[in-house]
Amino acid sequence: MKQFLVAALLGLSLTAQAQIGIGPVPQEPTPGTDAGNCISAADMTQIAKDFKQFASLSGKEYCHDGSQQAHLLAGIHYIRKVQFNQPMTNSSDELFKGTFAGDWYKYTTNLVKTFKIESSCPTGVIAFVYGFFHQNTMHVCPMALTPSFTPLDLASVFMHEARHIEGYPHVTCSQGPRAGLNGACDKKISDAGSYAVTVETYAQLGAYGKDIHPAHRALAQASSLIYAAEAFQTPVKINKEEAFLALTLDRELYQIDSNLKSAKLIGTTEKHGNFAKSKMGLIFLPEDKALPMVKIFPTGQTSPTSSEYNDNAATRSNVVDYYFAWTWNARIEKNKVKFFCDKRENPTQANEVSVGGALSVIYPEGYAPEKNYAYIKTTNGVVKISCEGSTGKVVAANNITVDADVKRVQKANSTLIGLTNDGDLLNLSNNSSRLDLGIGAVVDVTSFTRATFFDKQ
Ligand SMILES: [Zn+2]
Repeated sequence: MKQFLVAALLGLSLTAQAQIGIGPVPQEPTPGTDAGNCISAADMTQIAKDFKQFASLSGKEYCHDGSQQAHLLAGIHYIRKVQFNQPMTNSSDELFKGTFAGDWYKYTTNLVKTFKIESSCPTGVIAFVYGFFHQNTMHVCPMALTPSFTPLDLASVFMHEARHIEGYPHVTCSQGPRAGLNGACDKKISDAGSYAVTVETYAQLGAYGKDIHPAHRALAQASSLIYAAEAFQTPVKINKEEAFLALTLDRELYQIDSNLKSAKLIGTTEKHGNFAKSKMGLIFLPEDKALPMVKIFPTGQTSPTSSEYNDNAATRSNVVDYYFAWTWNARIEKNKVKFFCDKRENPTQANEVSVGGALSVIYPEGYAPEKNYAYIKTTNGVVKISCEGSTGKVVAANNITVDADVKRVQKANSTLIGLTNDGDLLNLSNNSSRLDLGIGAVVDVTSFTRATFFDKQ
């Protein structure tokens, strides 16, 4: 990266192919979000007034044609039109302080006068500005001008870059998944720098945005949490709650609080399948291997996702599970584990290790995507899989024993539960006692984390 590129927004979370290593579950657009959408002649006239580069488009309706310019204009149009439900109450943690809750378009137009579409950018860079106080040009990278970036994402990007123009640079990350990356962190969220803008704008969209597609709202919430977790030297305080989610034989989804007292029906799924976890939320692997892997919300709604699994339909039949960490992935097959260990570039680089009788990923320590290891249950006991030394390895996990008939282990708060081959849930924190929640046979169980701020909305 050029040294004078001081203010790039690294797209470590929302990008597509280029960063499959660090963002193992990149987004795909929700259908119908931009292609064919039109900006009215009146709106184009106003945009052309604020950004002279669009003068030739003034007075005419502009319809999305899939071009880079169309993506850029969709972002500009979105930030002009976005509305929020009032009042926007602050969170009781550090997630949303309303610091940037004023008029987003006005803020951007005061600081940015020109958008320049770049023909190429360093890996992972979404957009950047040069220096501070002088330049009013925002350089937008090709990656940002694809369907992977919704207008909602672009609104957040514009706000982030505008903050740089006010004089807030980044620092090199000393820890976390971005460790060593130049200019990819801010010191602390209370400094109200560009990554604070990113977290707050996504949190604001996720909590208070009007007329937002439920999938986009969920992704905005996830994005605010991911940037909060990755892009600060001092950890951001966020109040969270953990719960279990069980899928039954009847394809019903039950939320089970970590005290295991009761189960609440919160949704249904169309298919049977298994859960995996990713930093962007839950992933669903349909039992029918002809179907693609999708993102799934606890209420059962799904949205597309891109993945190595979806790209390789012919080789899916032996896949039993997936593990997605922050900086590595593992594809678990019946007789081997395929590791994708490299962190950022060359995401296709992989190595395979033979494992007899692999059954499923278990989470006896909860989901810890920042760690470089995980556990899988096999017919011969539990093994530890890891990307230590940047190469996939499998070693015996002698510290973990799981009864032969338990196929899943999940943790929420400090409670461990197990799922038996017969579809029973066991309280592993209490002598493996059988849970009687009245929900019938369980097909799979997972845990999920929610920021309490988003629960209130
Ligand atoms: Zn930045």
